[in-house]
Amino acid sequence: MYVNGVTLRNRGLPDSHRIGVYRQTGGYGALAKVLQGPMSPDQIISEMKLSALRGRGGAGFPTGLKWSFMPKGVAGTKYLLCNADEGEPGTCKDRDIMRYEPHRLIEGMIIGAYAMGARSGYIYIRGEFVEPIRTVEAAIDEAYAAGLLGERILGTDFSFDLAVHRGAGAYICGEETALMESLEGKKGQPRFKPPFPASYGLYGQPTTINNVETFASVPDIVLHGGEWFLKLGKPNNGGTKIFSVTGHVRNPGNFEVPMGTPFRDLLGMAGGLHPGRRLKAVIPGGTSTAMVAGDAMMELAMDYDSISKAGSALGAGSVIVIDDSVCIVRVVERIARFYMHESCGQCTPCREGMGWLWRVLHRIENGQGREPDLDLLQNVGSRIEGRTICALADGGVAPVVSSLRLFPEEYEHHIRQGSCLVTDSRSVA
Ligand code: SF4
Repeated sequence: MYVNGVTLRNRGLPDSHRIGVYRQTGGYGALAKVLQGPMSPDQIISEMKLSALRGRGGAGFPTGLKWSFMPKGVAGTKYLLCNADEGEPGTCKDRDIMRYEPHRLIEGMIIGAYAMGARSGYIYIRGEFVEPIRTVEAAIDEAYAAGLLGERILGTDFSFDLAVHRGAGAYICGEETALMESLEGKKGQPRFKPPFPASYGLYGQPTTINNVETFASVPDIVLHGGEWFLKLGKPNNGGTKIFSVTGHVRNPGNFEVPMGTPFRDLLGMAGGLHPGRRLKAVIPGGTSTAMVAGDAMMELAMDYDSISKAGSALGAGSVIVIDDSVCIVRVVERIARFYMHESCGQCTPCREGMGWLWRVLHRIENGQGREPDLDLLQNVGSRIEGRTICALADGGVAPVVSSLRLFPEEYEHHIRQGSCLVTDSRSVA
């Protein structure tokens, strides 16, 4: 196992957020290799493709392929954006990179900007992240003072400017095109795609956007090579990944492990379940992903392909552990309320459907459910999925539909008896 990690390797060192500590541990060595080696942009993108790094924000799209979509030789500014909005319930990893390893993120962005010919960049950070915002802004100042940002970086012809933009806390602004609308000063609502950001992004210019953890993986890929990174994980799922393990574990937190690590091992790192409890279910990738039954989860590996084959998604790696003290109806009702609240309202199936899901779940949870309600939930869910502009709606349906399939007896008990099957029910939060 690669015990030291990649993106959170320096967490635990005193002043790990300062440029001096980062440089003492090899930081900005990858940037020097790129600019003074020099490596061509095409070489960097080839290494990124070889690494099998997949976007760590949730979609898992191959990063090298995404970078190769940026057009060459276009007029005007190309932009590079970092999505640091991190609003998925259960996810708390990017804020740790920003708190402890901001220069790893900045170095990854500078290399990305060089590889794609971007001249300007923004890190869009959730406004509530007061400490990470201050830390990243201070790190950017340090990088400018050291000649690592701005004009003629390290004495070369390459220039890149980077700034922080504070979001206002809407979940939907973590969607890439809504984030761009927000950056432009408009209401944060997703755009129709196509056109995709590589051709029409921020201010209508070619733009690439990646997650914090994705950028923080880049310096080591450049330093050690794409093949090295690939071999840390498994084919098509290169490298390490930070999993935010929350819920009913004794030691919740962020754990960086190789892709393909058995869930059973990850659960052990998080201290395991509380004494006497049984694993009931896991939401493996954040609340917008389908639940997996506990027994099935214990046999799974934590990588994109394995979790996808089990009918869910790795998402941003937010692993929510649910033991047998929890009422599933109550969990899903709370999740549905979140998505109802966060719908931006553009699409009718999402705006109306999320409210319907929540209202039906709410009455079932409160002992006022009716026999046809389970069919109604299925019906409403099927009329939402695949009919909206962005993935928020599908994400909101996933926990509802999967829980109906896995735990029908809990819903039926609520409806028929007007009470919860779990007698010592408590919150998963
Ligand atoms: Fe907005 Fe929902 Fe449509 Fe996404 S699916 S654009 S959040 S209304």
